[in-house]
Amino acid sequence: MFDVPVIQKELSHHSSFYLYHEKKILEATTQLKESFPTVEFLYSMKTNANPSVVDCVLSQGFGVDAASVAEVMAGVARGVPQHKIQFSAPGKSKKHIEETIDHAILVADSLNEVQLIQTVAQEKGIVATIGIRVHPSFSFLGGAATPSKFGVDEEQFLEALPVLDALPNLEIRGIHIHVQSQELSHQVLTQYYTNQLTLVRRAQEKAKHPFTFLNMGSGIGIPYSLTDAPLDVPGLGQTLTGLLKEFLVDFPEMGIYVETGRYAVGKSGVYVTTVLDKKVSRGKTFVILENTLNGFIRPSLEQLVRKYSGESTPAASEPLFTKENAFQFIALTQETQEETVTLVGNLCTAADVVATDITLPILQVGNAIVITNAGSYAAVLSPMQFSSQIPPAELFCTSQGDVITYQK
Ligand SMILES: *Cc1c(COP(=O)(O)O)cnc(C)c1O
Repeated sequence: MFDVPVIQKELSHHSSFYLYHEKKILEATTQLKESFPTVEFLYSMKTNANPSVVDCVLSQGFGVDAASVAEVMAGVARGVPQHKIQFSAPGKSKKHIEETIDHAILVADSLNEVQLIQTVAQEKGIVATIGIRVHPSFSFLGGAATPSKFGVDEEQFLEALPVLDALPNLEIRGIHIHVQSQELSHQVLTQYYTNQLTLVRRAQEKAKHPFTFLNMGSGIGIPYSLTDAPLDVPGLGQTLTGLLKEFLVDFPEMGIYVETGRYAVGKSGVYVTTVLDKKVSRGKTFVILENTLNGFIRPSLEQLVRKYSGESTPAASEPLFTKENAFQFIALTQETQEETVTLVGNLCTAADVVATDITLPILQVGNAIVITNAGSYAAVLSPMQFSSQIPPAELFCTSQGDVITYQK
């Protein structure tokens, strides 16, 4: 699952670090490309913007799902062509639009934003091809659609299409739909894809020009807890390929995009931290680790959700909380005798708890613990400035076994 000799070697340089394996990223991206031959993938860079990770994913022909100006520019700097960078995020300012309109396909997140892009295009004297993020009239799991801060409600979009089509400096040619991440059910994703293709047919009836791209968003999940059954990605690919075969007969010009962050890199990373101290307080054994809440926040958030929700299976709140028991803790020690411990961090807050009353081999100060599922929404989410600790290093292990180090 991870490379213990590499970890042991790096522990002599760093007492807490992320380790990303190129080999794992290549396995995941190859799996996607082979499973979905009619689709172009966009890397959702917000999941992990480590430069070597980005280099690796983009080297596989992925475009960019950018959520900020900086992410657009990270794609531009790596030579990604404009049509393979889609900038989709709520609340783009005029400045954001001015800085990216020549480098990315802008996906408007509201009708106001369409007007703002029209203004910028007019000022620049260009005609911009753009997409619109549509908040569909269907929900992810079936049942009524809910309100959303993202995109334009499908009903409003369909009604506005004649007006949008008449804007002189815009060609509205794309539809972006993303409702949910981290799904492991083939059946749910199949229905979701089917509903999306039907939405495009409804929109095309109202639009003057043929749509030329559909961005189907993400949804493809990874197993987090040991009881999760992994999604059958080749099977899902085959299903979508079948659906598209029919669809593309009527839409021969349509480019189909799927976004992914988590599937590409989520399983490629582990977090490694070291035991700094150990104590017993009124019968409870605490193991104090370096840079936990501040270095890899998600296990601590899981503890908070467990403490405050009072529910047996609290709902996901991506990307902060996915589910319970989403991270495994592996002690790097030869010790075979076990004990029950509570893992906490070295911050001056009682909220810095990563695991409560778990059974692990008896740990000594200086031993290391590996935490799994640290490749996505991990380093990027963690409050590393909290209490001015030295943040964990980020290490990238190439397929050849060389390690590239990033230390802030
Ligand atoms: C975050 C995000 C994604 C990526 O989701 P993953 O679960 O990491 O694949 C894709 N599309 C949009 C619009 C997003 O906001």
